[in-house]
Amino acid sequence: MKRIYEPMAYGDLPIQNSYWQTFKPANAVQYPTLSDNIACDFVIVGAGYTGLSAAIRLAEQGADVVVLEANEPGWGASGRNGGLVSVGGSKLSDKQIAAKFGNQDARTYFQTERAAVDFVEALIEQHNIQVDRHSKGYTFAAHSKSTIKDVKSYGEQYKARYGLDHQFLDQNAMRERGMDSPEFHAAVNLPIGFALNPIKFALGLADVAGALGVRIFANSAVEKVSVQNGFELQTQNGRVRAKKLLMATNGYSSEDVPSAFASRYMPVQSNILVTRPLTDIELQNQGWWSEQMVVDARNLLHYFRLLPDKRMMFGLRGSVIASDASMAKTKRNARVDFDRMFPDWHNVQTDHFWSGLICMSRDLVPFSGPISGIDNAYAAMAYHGNGVSMAPYCGALMADMALGKQLMPHAELMKKPMRKFELGPLRRNLLPPAFAWYKLLDGK
Ligand SMILES: Cc1cc2nc3c(=O)[nH]c(=O)nc-3n(C[C@H](O)[C@H](O)[C@H](O)COP(=O)(O)OP(=O)(O)OC[C@H]3O[C@@H](n4cnc5c(N)ncnc54)[C@H](O)[C@@H]3O)c2cc1C
Repeated sequence: MKRIYEPMAYGDLPIQNSYWQTFKPANAVQYPTLSDNIACDFVIVGAGYTGLSAAIRLAEQGADVVVLEANEPGWGASGRNGGLVSVGGSKLSDKQIAAKFGNQDARTYFQTERAAVDFVEALIEQHNIQVDRHSKGYTFAAHSKSTIKDVKSYGEQYKARYGLDHQFLDQNAMRERGMDSPEFHAAVNLPIGFALNPIKFALGLADVAGALGVRIFANSAVEKVSVQNGFELQTQNGRVRAKKLLMATNGYSSEDVPSAFASRYMPVQSNILVTRPLTDIELQNQGWWSEQMVVDARNLLHYFRLLPDKRMMFGLRGSVIASDASMAKTKRNARVDFDRMFPDWHNVQTDHFWSGLICMSRDLVPFSGPISGIDNAYAAMAYHGNGVSMAPYCGALMADMALGKQLMPHAELMKKPMRKFELGPLRRNLLPPAFAWYKLLDGK
């Protein structure tokens, strides 16, 4: 597979210290490696939320489904994210979406975003997946006085999009709700969304798919996709013949599996720090005890929440190279930001730090549609760091397309062929200037 980051990004090193790894049950299901030539109707590449949700959707309709995963189910972003389930998925504002794709499709897109959160909630409830859920909606916080107007206008935008009210909190109101930090000057509470344990969700989906008869193969990286009378997918030790192909590889995609993807997706690293459990006194001293999940108003945003066991989870974007040195530097930067936001906890150890790849598209909107130029092939990807809701939903949309159905809101803009990024295989070089510009806009 030809990929655009250093090999480290595609190995286990970035998650060797992930807090979520500690939640993998000792008796977790061991999925076999493909070691034979088999056939099926639908083959799915990638066992994250997108692929597993697509598999469940297909299997619920009685389809014959195989999932091929290069590592283990949930190994990618799905087992290492912040667990914030919220509306979103695009990097464009409402106005930009409407200007670019038209008012009507923009409205359908906002319905899609809203439906995605409800879809995840329904999946969890229907299959009784234990995900340590908390947080009532989410909080969008102003990290400077000058961004108070931005969070207010985000609240308004939210109302126009989803017809739901938001609640403005000034600094005092934040304090009263256990969200005291010198960094935050105001916030809006937005009623849709909740937080979950991401690896429990991913492994839960894999269990559901398995119970529905989906054949999942782990450690079975697809090295080649041939298109002739259907599809033939080659792994190191086996082959799958299938009538329809569904690609669910998101930030871990490659330039050549299939080659139609080349230059059309942009993986970006996201990173998370988790502290040791905080004591009640430490929570009181800092004035932060809310279990609400929070995102700040920066372009290079921070996302954080107090976990059910009182560890603080703190996420940020912004590193471009996948190496030990770069990871260590990002961890130091994360700690500086963390200490500024939570000065009372500056001596608290941060036991865990890890990173993973999210994915962006050139048009800055999610994709769930046919793969251009290949009949009976579909892909879903590019949720711009908002995939805990969008990925399962887009996986289900992709499954519906493969079955020739449309049962849920699905904006046309999400089906448009993904455009190529400038600089082709070197497109990662677009990130440093973009990050530098965002940093300048963000102030600190
Ligand atoms: C650190 C971090 C924090 C995040 N926080 C949040 C958050 O709080 N809220 C939110 O909404 N989103 C968040 N995200 C984004 C979210 O996790 C992703 O959008 C979502 O998990 C994508 O799911 P996926 O199934 O499409 O991709 P992934 O989960 O990345 O799965 C892709 C899978 O494809 C497999 N694969 C790739 N190539 C092949 C091949 N050739 N053969 C076989 N298998 C292959 C990979 O091994 C991988 O398991 C975060 C992401 C990261 C990295």
